[in-house]
Amino acid sequence: MSSIITKAKPNLGTLVQAGDSLVPRPSYAVRDQLARKLDAKVASGFEDVAVYSVFDITHIMHPYMHVVKSVMSDVGKETLNVHDKVSACALGVGEHRANDVKRDIAFTLGDYGIDNKLTKDSDELIKQINFMPVFDSEGLDFYSAYECLAHDLASRISFRKMINENSGNVILFFGAGGPHCQDQVLIQVHPELFGCPSNRGISDLVKMANLSDHTYFIDCHPDGYGLRSLTYAPIKHETPGKSSYFHLRDAEGVLKQTITGIVKKAVSKKAFLDYTGSLPPQISSKVTQLIEYGKG
Ligand SMILES: [Zn+2]
Repeated sequence: MSSIITKAKPNLGTLVQAGDSLVPRPSYAVRDQLARKLDAKVASGFEDVAVYSVFDITHIMHPYMHVVKSVMSDVGKETLNVHDKVSACALGVGEHRANDVKRDIAFTLGDYGIDNKLTKDSDELIKQINFMPVFDSEGLDFYSAYECLAHDLASRISFRKMINENSGNVILFFGAGGPHCQDQVLIQVHPELFGCPSNRGISDLVKMANLSDHTYFIDCHPDGYGLRSLTYAPIKHETPGKSSYFHLRDAEGVLKQTITGIVKKAVSKKAFLDYTGSLPPQISSKVTQLIEYGKG
């Protein structure tokens, strides 16, 4: 009897606390096996990779939209035409209750944004990007509907993961402000100005970032206050390793290479190293630093 227990011990491992109960810790052999599987996945990449380019479409983006659109079009050509497992789309996020979004745009996303399908065709992606408007009106909102975009995108990622758990999902979030529902006192006094009609908030951004393989928040506001303080700071400790932030200024002169590197990283470790290895050393080091560590 004792010899059976002795033989079984290395496989059972020790007990560890999980919530209210004790469960067997996976043996070293099992953990090694899982680690090898994870390494293999990182090295070979996902079976298919979706890149969601989210654009804030409120007036605050006016000075930057041209640059961001131009860079994203170049990245589209450089990644979709090279890697057939990558698809991408452009999504717009504005304000709730802004009538111009509802009135003028064919592909609306809720009452706040613009929708597009994932595509592997770079010309189609460029059409989506060029079609993305920036609205002059500020609507009635003080904030943008980042929380509802996050909620809707999280649902799509969940669905893709359900169909194929080895699908990658990367979010490029070009923004300049913050989501609704952060100050309960203000919401109670002026729900039409401060609250989200669906009562969503920061928790939806946490969920989106944790479901994605990585969410990159790219700040386009001159003072860098809104996106960093109102959107990224409240979620960063709840999304470790899943979200990062940098300002357009941090990527001056290397924005195209940084975004391209982000997509290559999702394709595979080899594609990322091949790409960064092809860049001049100074650019390669700046790009790698921004992608791996962000600036926030
Ligand atoms: Zn909302």
